[in-house]
Amino acid sequence: LGRLVCVGTGMQLAGQVGALSQSYIELADIVFTLLPDGFAERWVESLNSNVCSLQGYYAQKGEIKNRRETYAQMVEAILTQVRQGKLVVCALYGHPGVFACVSHMAIRQAKTEGYEASMLPGISAESCLWADLGIDPGTSGHQSYEATQFLLYDHTPDPCSHLLLWQIALAGEHTLTQFSTTSAKLQVLVDHLSQWYPLSHEVIIYEAANLPFQMPRMDKIKLSELVTAELKAISTLLIPPAKKLIFNQNVLKRLGISEVEIG
Ligand code: SAH
Repeated sequence: LGRLVCVGTGMQLAGQVGALSQSYIELADIVFTLLPDGFAERWVESLNSNVCSLQGYYAQKGEIKNRRETYAQMVEAILTQVRQGKLVVCALYGHPGVFACVSHMAIRQAKTEGYEASMLPGISAESCLWADLGIDPGTSGHQSYEATQFLLYDHTPDPCSHLLLWQIALAGEHTLTQFSTTSAKLQVLVDHLSQWYPLSHEVIIYEAANLPFQMPRMDKIKLSELVTAELKAISTLLIPPAKKLIFNQNVLKRLGISEVEIG
């Protein structure tokens, strides 16, 4: 009976994959991949002789294709193999289920059709971000949004905690056909954020290293400079807190605690 396991390969080549995930990659009848570069693809090919990249489903040069269609085709390619009774592994960079819809959709579909399907976690861009920047998100809490969703829906950021905006290079690109945004759209994002953050607030463009000899990008810029910043498909924006944590006097009173008692 066919079976699907979605695994994450981490951000950095060969070194951030879990032992269990690697063993599934080795055991699989077929491995589908979405990986950062050719190095990572060749590394997976060294573990399994039947590897098929899903990259080709994205729009090719000159083609206009909605990413929803791309994702549906990827899911169908995966399911076709599951239906043939194979152990199918879908190996995605980072964590396979964090800001990544294909594995969730494929697992749901496989289960609907009566197949066993599961996901193993991986080291996501966010895991690397806290490590490289030396920030514990627990010190003030954090929020994470896909940048376009953050713009299009009525989300309220908490300026006392960290804010992560994923896919910042696509902020406001609602058609799902382009692979970059415009400075006009980034200006809308900056204006929107200025409701909660000063324009001079320091934000960080973060890019985890994909290869062992690379350094992560950790560019500190002013919020206002985001409009003209060089953004890549792999950039994530971190907006550190702009305000100190504020005590909730109402709850303190109900718990019978005074501010001085809190360490
Ligand atoms: N599943 C992936 C995320 C895929 S969504 C994970 O677990 O990390 C794609 C977004 O992830 C990018 O737009 C960017 O915000 C983030 N991302 C991908 N590669 C990254 C990298 N090398 N450094 C920082 N963020 C990255």
